Amino acid sequence: MLAAGEVSSVELTQAHLDRIAAVDGEVHAFLNVSGEDALATAADVDARRAAGEELHPLAGVPVAVKDVVVTKGQVTTAASKMLEGWIPPYDATLVKKLRAAGMPILGKTNMDEFAMGSSTEHSAFGPTRNPWDLERIPGGSGGGSAAAVGAFEAPLAVGTDTGGSIRQPAAVTGTVGVKPTYGSISRYGLIAMASSLDQAGPCTRTVEDAALFHEVMGGHDPLDSTSLPMPCTGYVAAARDTSSLEGVRVAVVKQLTGEGYEEGVRASFEESLDLLREAGAQIVEVDCPSFEIALDAYYLLMPAEVSSNLAKFDGMRYGLRVEPDDGPVTAERVMAATRAAGFGDEVKRRIILGTYALSAGNIDHYYGAALRARTLVQRDFAKAFEQADVLVSPTAPTVAFKFGAKVDDPMAMYLNDVATIPANLAGVPGMSLPSGLSEGLPVGFQILAPAFEDARLYRVGGVLERALESKWGGPLLASAPALKEN
Ligand code: GLN
Repeated sequence: MLAAGEVSSVELTQAHLDRIAAVDGEVHAFLNVSGEDALATAADVDARRAAGEELHPLAGVPVAVKDVVVTKGQVTTAASKMLEGWIPPYDATLVKKLRAAGMPILGKTNMDEFAMGSSTEHSAFGPTRNPWDLERIPGGSGGGSAAAVGAFEAPLAVGTDTGGSIRQPAAVTGTVGVKPTYGSISRYGLIAMASSLDQAGPCTRTVEDAALFHEVMGGHDPLDSTSLPMPCTGYVAAARDTSSLEGVRVAVVKQLTGEGYEEGVRASFEESLDLLREAGAQIVEVDCPSFEIALDAYYLLMPAEVSSNLAKFDGMRYGLRVEPDDGPVTAERVMAATRAAGFGDEVKRRIILGTYALSAGNIDHYYGAALRARTLVQRDFAKAFEQADVLVSPTAPTVAFKFGAKVDDPMAMYLNDVATIPANLAGVPGMSLPSGLSEGLPVGFQILAPAFEDARLYRVGGVLERALESKWGGPLLASAPALKEN
């Protein structure tokens, strides 16, 4: 519609700002909204389009950005008191790419503090609510990005996924989320949680939207030492490919179904398998025994990296600074007071765990053992991908739970990521797309592909999405009950 001149970017951007004004008081997907900047970008794109300039297909389409990604001149907090009011002096590489494509940035989305959590209840600035049921969590850590897309406050949003924070929020909000191959979208300008696992990616309403958006953000970046020289292209074509899945082998991961997964989640998963079978795919099963220890390995490796990455928040250089009011103001005492006041409980828990796992005398027993487990997970993936083109599972074991149900029980919270974490440990790409409802709440279907083969997610995801929509008579989000009157 933008290209055909049926709507202008200013109209489109204003419509989303209006929607945010109407519903975000309840949803709280955004930590801050940058309407003026967004409209200025929109006006610029409209002028260039009117002048006949050749523009990117997404030029003029507004976008929301998770608040763990730095945006020049615009407050970025990672939902932590530690960075309250902090204005970054530079743009993340992926943000530069959004700007270069002419995409107005609507604002920054809420999340668990420093991306640690599965419910967005660990945000220092209050939780985001699930647009399907305002009494329930929108997943985490990227609950704000998923809810913004699910509540039609933004057509596209940026997420980051260290152990599932794009895919699990997608699953519980009925949206699409993709964690690309590790290293294929630059980490430069992402506030680091666990550097060997962190990966940015698209949060959208459809598989094709994710493909378009993924292509914009991807590509090699000399500013990121783990960036891959991998072209992120061909995803849109893969998403649009309507040919049969004849010859495509789809493997159910034995360890990621069955016990621990809600019955409604399993039923929805089985229905999707039937649709893939009808579309020509061959459904097989693979055994990945190490996946049973993936969560344990993650909760040693991730905190270890967290304890190192978050050492820079010390009250000395930027962000919060608290001086102790009882005694001498030494550097060490300022650091202690700042970190005590600035970090929330979950962040402190992980820093302590990670410091312990890395300490002399413990490092081999904990960190070393977890690294060995990570190698086993990588080997299980390699073996599984000899037998199959993609692996599948439910994205999360349950539908969205109620606020407070797990926030005081870290282990119960961590179990939400049991199906998403193996992909981060191995660096392979994964997608979650909505596969239906269980007790009126969305269920996510996860597809995993070998590293560099992100296009397979779009190919299989596109086929499944079309099959599901023809069964439902339209997109799942069209039936979201909450906020409908708006
Ligand atoms: N929920 C997971 C955690 O708390 C994943 C977080 C993420 O992917 N950023 O570690």
